[in-house]
Order: sequence, then C-alpha cells, then structure tokens
Amino acid sequence: MDVEDHPLKLYFIPYLAAGHMIPLCDIAQFFASRGHHVTVITTPSNAQHLKPSHNFRLHTLQFPSQEVGLPDGVENLTGVTDIYNSYKIYTATMLLRQSIESFLEQDPPDCVVADFLYPWVHDLANKLRIPRLVFNGFSLFSICAMESVKTLSIHATGPFAIPDFPHHITLRSSPPKDSREFIEPLLAMALKSDGFIINNFVELDGEEYLSHYERTTGHKAWHLGPACLARRTALEKAERGAKSVLSMQECVSWLDSKQVNSVVYISFGSLCYFPDKQLYEIACAIEASGYGFIWVVPEKKEKEEEKEEEKEKWLPKGFEERNGEKGIIIRGWAPQVLILNHPAVGAFLTHCGWNSTVESVAAGVPMVTWPVHSDQFYNEKLITQVRGIGVEVGADEWNLSAFFESEKLVDRACIEKAMRRIMDGADESLLIRRRAKEFGKTAIQAVQEGGSSFNNLTALIDYLKQLRNSKPE
Ligand code: UDP
Repeated sequence: MDVEDHPLKLYFIPYLAAGHMIPLCDIAQFFASRGHHVTVITTPSNAQHLKPSHNFRLHTLQFPSQEVGLPDGVENLTGVTDIYNSYKIYTATMLLRQSIESFLEQDPPDCVVADFLYPWVHDLANKLRIPRLVFNGFSLFSICAMESVKTLSIHATGPFAIPDFPHHITLRSSPPKDSREFIEPLLAMALKSDGFIINNFVELDGEEYLSHYERTTGHKAWHLGPACLARRTALEKAERGAKSVLSMQECVSWLDSKQVNSVVYISFGSLCYFPDKQLYEIACAIEASGYGFIWVVPEKKEKEEEKEEEKEKWLPKGFEERNGEKGIIIRGWAPQVLILNHPAVGAFLTHCGWNSTVESVAAGVPMVTWPVHSDQFYNEKLITQVRGIGVEVGADEWNLSAFFESEKLVDRACIEKAMRRIMDGADESLLIRRRAKEFGKTAIQAVQEGGSSFNNLTALIDYLKQLRNSKPE
C-alpha cells in the first residue's frame, strides 16, 4: 500500500443492485489501496457482503422496509423477482436521501462518488462545495451510443444506425421510449458532474470513444477498471455480492475435472427472468451441443400449492440425469468471477450486462451475446462488431427492464449454432479466442503499476487533491 501523507476522504454511494454495487465498491477499494480513506454508504443487509478495513469503512443507514412494504433484509434489487418489488427498492433508495444528506453535511468528504440514480447528489455536492463523480456501471461506448441516440425521435422503432458515431453500427431494434425517458434525464444530470467513473480500461472502449465523448460532451471520463481485478485471491473472487449456492471448493474441483476450454458458462446476470419456454430452448441447445456447462438460473419462488411434477417445466424430462456428468445448474447466486477465471471455461453465454462483459474480457473468455435490455444492446456491438471477441445469438427484442419476460423466443438452433462458433475450434473460433485472450492480458496490465487504469487513478487522485487544496477556507 502507498504511504499517503494527506489522504483524501471519499464517500461512495452505490445503488442497491448487484450490477451497480459490486463494481463501485471494488473501485472504492482501488482508492483505499492507495492509502485514501473511503466510506461506503449503504444499508445493513448490503453491508454484510462488504469487508471493512482501516481505509475502507462502511456507514450504514436503516433501510425503510416498512415504509415501502418489503420484508426485512430485502434491501437490494437482487433480492426481488418482479417489477412491483423492484419499484419498492427504487422508492426505498429515494427515501434514503435525507439520511445521506445529513451524514454528508455533518462531516463532508473531499469528494462524493454517487450512482447516477441519485441525481439529487448534484445539489448536495454544490451546497457543500465538493466535487461529485458519477458512476452508472455502463461502458463509455454505451454512454456515447446513448448520447448519440438522444438525437433520434423518441418514438423511433425498428432497425437504426447510431448517428454520428466513430463506427458504423446498426441495431436490429430501437430502445423503448419509456427506457429512454428514464435514462436520458439521468445522463443529462451526470454530465453536470465533475466526471464519470468508468468500470473499463481505455483499450477496450477505445481511445476513439474517449476522445469522441470528451469532444462531443465537454465532460470528463475516467477509466479505472476492470473493477473485478481489485479481487486477487480465489476467495475474494468467490465471495461477491451475495452468498453463492455452490461453495468455492465444489466449483473449483468440478471445473478441475474438465478439459481446458470445454465448458460454456451461461448466466444472464443478477436480475434476468426468462420465461420457462425460453429456458427450455436453452436446455435443448446445451444438450444438443454436447459441451460441458455451468448454467445459472435465478431461484424462482415456486408457489406452495404447485405439484412436484409441475415444477421446473423449463427442463426437458430427464435432463439432469442425462447431463449430470456434463454440467451443473446453479439455482441462485454463482461465484461468477471465480468460474470465468478457470481455464476449463471456454465461452460465456451472457446477457451483456456491462459487469459480466468486462469480467469475461478480464478473464480472456470469448462471449456468445444475448442482450435483453438497456445498455446491453450496445455492449453486444462493442463485443462482436467492434472488438471481435464474441458472436451474437440473434436476440432483438429490447425489453423495458430485466423483470419483463420476453415474448419473442430465441430458438435452440440459433443458440447451439452461436455456441459452436466459439467452441468448435475452427478458424473463426480460434481467431476470436486469440483476440479475447489478448484483451484479457491488456486488462490485467491496465490495473498494474504503469497501466492505463492505474495511471488514470493516479491522475484522478492528483486532480481531487488539487481541488481540495485550492478550496477557499
Ligand atoms: N453475479 C454473480 N453471480 C451471479 C449473478 C451475478 O457474481 O449468480 C455478478 C456478476 O459477476 C456481475 C454482477 O453480478 O458482477 C451483475 O452485473 P451485470 O452488469 O453483469 O448484470 P446485471 O445483473 O446488472 O443485469
């Protein structure tokens, strides 16, 4: 750890969802590892998954469970399975505003880093005359795409090319109006901050997107990732976000028994609920491909009165008996980063959530892309068309959120074909795998001394110190 004479005091306010909280807390660790004093502001059940230390403290606020009607202990989007309860989590986080404000007012930090879902932190930071950095968990490539899409009609549907963009990118369908109406004002508020913190390394987004962003918005973006590389040991990689249903030992010993690049890891993030019919198509594709697999299926709350034989209609009869040797179905939380970093894993069938994407890249694993909503459709294009480290499954139905079940199915033949393109060892797959491995190496270098993200962190710390030191008394 660096010796820091006059450490910065930084407060981090992550949104209460795995995809926001895990990376922002890992980024907070990067600051702590340089000797700065970090405080993460969160709620008691979320705090259970974080490990405080001398430089990395937690400030917990009571979660307003009763006010919003959520059971005790459900304090994160990952703990809910439907849209109504997801709104309750959102409402609860908004109710935390007053407690957060009074904590900051009593003892202001040198800088506040808040999720873009808390736009009101803007006024608070202004009032306290401290810099505000924003985080939203997106790649800069996707933020640039969203900025460009702003110029298109809000009612647009169907295929479109991203206007005024460094690459010529065409998407099969347009983002839904409601999704744009939610995100665009939040992005506009983020642009008023002192900068974006990006969980990526600049080589993956590309210098062209950094300069495009800074030129078109006049706003600063700091690439400090991949955040998952803040976790060095196997245990740190295994214990993130929630308690895994499979122990680290079980997972590693199963993977150790498989050949290099023989297993497909399948997960659609912390929130995605596919209808039974879609899960059935995935199961058929897995079986037909014959590849080894680890398939993460979110735990569904089965109705008590449901008969045993009606449960798990999403699995073909006898699937688990036939494939017991070949694969594992994880019903619940998986130790994703640990799995991705095992040499047996040869491909990741992913919903292209940005964390999953950058975690796959950092592990050098090529992807089969299946976006569902939000930035995921842009991330897919970065992976497949721009960087050539994955292939598309062909999903084009743009959902409003992870809690809406898609109506249009991706059929088993498309899924199997896309998996084979990465796994079959033919020329295309070798080329894609080679590129993915190269990006994996670059990712690791980026966070090491002298690497791009390491240097960006140094520059950001210097910038924040300058602001602190020039602040009038
Ligand atoms: N994750 C995990 N185990 C799971 C599901 C998700 O560790 O079973 C982690 C994953 O590694 C990533 C985050 O949760 O860090 C999910 O973020 P992402 O942006 O990929 O997707 P989201 O869940 O936000 O849609």
